Amino acid sequence: MNAADSELVEGLLEREGYKRAASPDSADALFVNTCAIREHAEEKVHSRLGNFQKFKQERPDMVIGVLGCMAQSLKHDLLDNKPYVDVILGPDSYRRLPGLLKRHKEDKTSQVDTTLSRFEVYDDLFPSRQEGINAWVSIMRGCDKFCTFCIVPFTRGRERSRSVESILAEVEQAVTDGFVEITLLGQNVNSYNYEGKRFHQLLETVAKIPGLKRIRYTSPHPQDITEDLLVTMASHANICNYVHLPLQAGSDRILKRMNRTYSRDHFTNLAGRVREVLPNCGISTDIIVGFPGETDAEFKETLDVMEEIKFDSAFTFKYSKRRGTKATEYEDQILEEVKQTRLEKVIVAQKSHTLERNQHYVGRVESVLAEKKSKRSIHQLAGRTDSNKWVIFDKEDVQIKDIVPVHILEARGISLHGQLLKKAEAA
Ligand code: SAH
Ligand code: SF4
Repeated sequence: MNAADSELVEGLLEREGYKRAASPDSADALFVNTCAIREHAEEKVHSRLGNFQKFKQERPDMVIGVLGCMAQSLKHDLLDNKPYVDVILGPDSYRRLPGLLKRHKEDKTSQVDTTLSRFEVYDDLFPSRQEGINAWVSIMRGCDKFCTFCIVPFTRGRERSRSVESILAEVEQAVTDGFVEITLLGQNVNSYNYEGKRFHQLLETVAKIPGLKRIRYTSPHPQDITEDLLVTMASHANICNYVHLPLQAGSDRILKRMNRTYSRDHFTNLAGRVREVLPNCGISTDIIVGFPGETDAEFKETLDVMEEIKFDSAFTFKYSKRRGTKATEYEDQILEEVKQTRLEKVIVAQKSHTLERNQHYVGRVESVLAEKKSKRSIHQLAGRTDSNKWVIFDKEDVQIKDIVPVHILEARGISLHGQLLKKAEAA
């Protein structure tokens, strides 16, 4: 989401005649687009701002800006403690950036706007993208779900969806610009609702755009994964066979306390249904360990659900207290050491599940989109299956952006290794 928002800001500034600087020390303005989802993300921004301050000491006229979710949640802290920050803009205020930059020339006091909007979807603004494989296309913003651990509804405000026409126009432009894959983006991407058009309908329309080879979407909420959505995915070869299904926790009591709106049974049935309708579908998840009050037995239920579903991959997090959220008020916070031990356990479990899932691919032929050079050898490429697995294979005459058939020979670590069958489809 932040990568997409940064491209949006870049597009906005380019329209006003600004250009991307070659390096931070040669820039007239430096912006950091921030994430407030976990403490770790915030710590990274503080250290980045420390570096920016050094650049500014060399060049005092440089403008330093903090954009995005941290601007929203930490504006007072920034104003009090980081006087070298000139511009603070929340995620619904990017349009004000050119105006604030102009104003800064006369008025050196910090310029702040962190108002949240019920309507802003940047419908008319096209992002400025570097050339690449995948184009991020934002289709909705905000979140109304209010999970008790999560800061997003406070930093990004209410759910709102972008018009179908403007999404189609942006995707068509991305295809014309040479992108072979697009990822539809939203905080709860499948809550999309524009004048009654729901997510599966949008997906279907996007899938029919000529020349679009792969479509992904993220991040969906399990509550809004409908039968219609699964059927739509099954009916279009260019919609990738991959679903992100964030579990968070395996215990019903913890899920309820998190306000996740589904039970363990509902979730495991849903995962089963995904695999029925979409055979060989890659399923990834998000897991939080050490949510307030989580007992050892409740944590064990998370491991049990992981064991039952055997996700293809998982993003795993220690619960992190976020200011203003309900869960920070719970008194039964979990000790750091306990969170750490639990995290290590889910990582170990997931590693073995990933390998087990990947082993099922050995012997199969997969369509792989060549995305980049392999880190290990200049003679090899790395690409993804449509179920979102990385495959390493010998380059031969394959070009980046080609989709080629690869015979999978081995599953090792978190990747697959294979051999090119023959060159199939040029990009
Ligand atoms: N809307 C998506 C998730 C977006 S946030 C959903 O509901 O599934 C991405 C992930 O960050 C979440 O799924 C959750 O696992 C993690 N996360 C959010 N807040 C967190 C917190 N306070 N501590 C630890 N992890 C958190
Ligand atoms: Fe956060 Fe996702 Fe819950 Fe919204 S649905 S509050 S973004 S975790």
